[in-house]
Amino acid sequence: MTVRVRFAPSPTGPLHIGGARSALFNYLFAAGKGGTFILRIEDTDLERSSRESEKDIIEALHWLGIQWNEGIEAGGVNGPYRQTERLKTYEEYTNKLLQAGHAYLCYCTEEELERERQELISRGETPRYLGKCRTLTAQEREMCEKEGRKPAVRFKVPNGQQIVINDLVRGKVNFDSDGIGDYIIVKSDGIPTYNYAVVIDDVLMGITHVIRGEEHLSNTPRQVLIYQALGMKVPDFAHISLILNTEGRKMSKRDGDTAVIDYFKKGYLPQAVVNFIALLGWSPSGEQEFFGMKELEQEFSLEKVSKSPAVFDINKLNHVNAHYLKEMTDTDLVEFVLPFLKEKGLFPSEKISDTDRQWVTDFIGAVKEKINCLVEVKEYIHYFRGAEIDLPDEEAAAILKAETIPSVLELFGKKVMIADPLDSAAAKQILKEIAKELTLKGKDVFMPVRIALTGQMHGPDLDRIIALLGKENVMARLRQTISRI
Ligand code: GLU
Repeated sequence: MTVRVRFAPSPTGPLHIGGARSALFNYLFAAGKGGTFILRIEDTDLERSSRESEKDIIEALHWLGIQWNEGIEAGGVNGPYRQTERLKTYEEYTNKLLQAGHAYLCYCTEEELERERQELISRGETPRYLGKCRTLTAQEREMCEKEGRKPAVRFKVPNGQQIVINDLVRGKVNFDSDGIGDYIIVKSDGIPTYNYAVVIDDVLMGITHVIRGEEHLSNTPRQVLIYQALGMKVPDFAHISLILNTEGRKMSKRDGDTAVIDYFKKGYLPQAVVNFIALLGWSPSGEQEFFGMKELEQEFSLEKVSKSPAVFDINKLNHVNAHYLKEMTDTDLVEFVLPFLKEKGLFPSEKISDTDRQWVTDFIGAVKEKINCLVEVKEYIHYFRGAEIDLPDEEAAAILKAETIPSVLELFGKKVMIADPLDSAAAKQILKEIAKELTLKGKDVFMPVRIALTGQMHGPDLDRIIALLGKENVMARLRQTISRI
């Protein structure tokens, strides 16, 4: 059997981490089995769906490097792949279900349904449709039509049936059909509901495995009943667990960023996000922590997807991202870092000069080990650029009061002036020479120079700071400090 899977997002917002994980698991499952991965857009919620969200989702998938071989953009013989373009197809099947007596027209109004709901709730029963229109006579139907009521189509749920789902992740899950009221499959405006359209599409697109979030498990019996009514083979299901925050609650916007695009904007690398998401629920057999996409394709299996909830731990993502940042060369990182520097007003012109490119490359080299994601480079710019320094705090200012300081700073200034070029090797050499010439401990040279140039006692490597600041800025900062002591 050739595996055919799909990711079927509703375009009602950006791609969230949970959606990205469903997409990734489907992609990996198909890739590992030489199968086909389809992207379908489920846009039957006309009010909440938008083409803009669809575009955002697709862009996020591209950014992550998740590729599909059939569907939106890719095309294929089972199209169209956007549900609102498939209404005719659903209609065909609705007619079949109506004719076979598996579905019926329901003329109940919103108000009538609400009344029934409230009654059931007040009796302590699960609110559900009790089947008022199941047995309408042709005459009654005609009356409703005359009143101008527009019918919805409801699926006739068989009584007393056990629906068993052999979920590839959760094992056997049982549902009782009596707990499910007859549900709407086509709304009175002719638009199919999710539970219905998803089945027709999965059947027609030859889907063999439905891999999706656990929140859809409760929808599954409703879908299985439709497969059965149509006499179609039910696919295998794999419902992946919820993603919880570190406190054990369902992850929500309050826990920080839930949309994939937020991580792009913060300068996380796509390979890090993919690696991190893959491990949300999937545990590889060994101790290996870092996986590239190709490795994931080989290693991934549904058997190793856990039933217990996954935990979204930002520290873990930072750790993974830091790993991939270190793996990249400083030169390769330039394009990733530039947008953040531009946000701070640096390098505004479109084309960056070779000198500036070199500066950015060296800057990355100096801060790469200190950051989790690229947006953090912004916090380091002040060390390396510009003539102004922060005022030292009390402790730092006290250090500059030592007797030896004026001679250290003076000598430093002299040596900087004659250095050519003032690169980090030269800076190191200068600091060493000062210690030697003034017979001071290294620390007694490094610390005052660091404070003199940055106003701070800690920070990135001093020799790199000196080199990146350049002669002019070093001298300007030095003069500011000297005038203050
Ligand atoms: N459109 C559904 C969603 O975005 C897809 C669920 C499914 O995969 O069946 O949640």
